[in-house]
Amino acid sequence: MVNGLAAVVFDIDDTLYLERDYVRSGFGVVSRAIAPDAGAPPLSVFETLWGLFESGARGDHFDSLLREYPEAASRWSVRDLVALYRGHEPDIALLPHMEPLLDELKGRGASLAIVSDGNLASQVAKVTALGLDRWFEEICLTDAWGRDYWKPSTRAFRHVAATLGAEPPNLVYVADNPHKDFLAPLHLGWGVTRLRLPGQLHVEVNCENVPEASSVEQLSDYLLAHSGPGL
Ligand SMILES: [Mg+2]
Repeated sequence: MVNGLAAVVFDIDDTLYLERDYVRSGFGVVSRAIAPDAGAPPLSVFETLWGLFESGARGDHFDSLLREYPEAASRWSVRDLVALYRGHEPDIALLPHMEPLLDELKGRGASLAIVSDGNLASQVAKVTALGLDRWFEEICLTDAWGRDYWKPSTRAFRHVAATLGAEPPNLVYVADNPHKDFLAPLHLGWGVTRLRLPGQLHVEVNCENVPEASSVEQLSDYLLAHSGPGL
């Protein structure tokens, strides 16, 4: 393979699908579960949660929810709600135009893999809901090794490169979060591409020195231009 990408490695959250859709899906499950004990319709509970999320609350929205609905707090703990949220079967879908891109890359013989952080049970549920086994020959969920190996650890990237039998510079990582996603692959000499879309949690974060695609179509143009039939 000359002048092409032997392997394309993707993040999951806010790269293959929009993370806010997972949050919406999980909040729906939690709202329906506690509504009978909260003395409020599920939609009201959901709107409380969604309002917290939209106003930037991260990590403590279930504490705030139970303060808002003290009747529910006598039956449910934050830990219960987190377990419900992480264990639910998410109602999520690939971004528009992502499926044909994955089909095309696979059809051209590119090796496809995943490197993704996040609670292991949640990430496994997302992999299942999105049907990722269809395209990806290696799905590396870093939480299986523990939080020390979440990005920016290089372990998952070294593991994936070895498993796919690919070496820099014929590896590219496609992801969304400048705070943590690109440090390890850049350190290892990989190519990187940031997918930056409205609705992503980190869309406002600016970042120099990482090429950006502002749509899945633009990402497709870039990846397909670098993955010729000679792959
Ligand atoms: Mg992400």
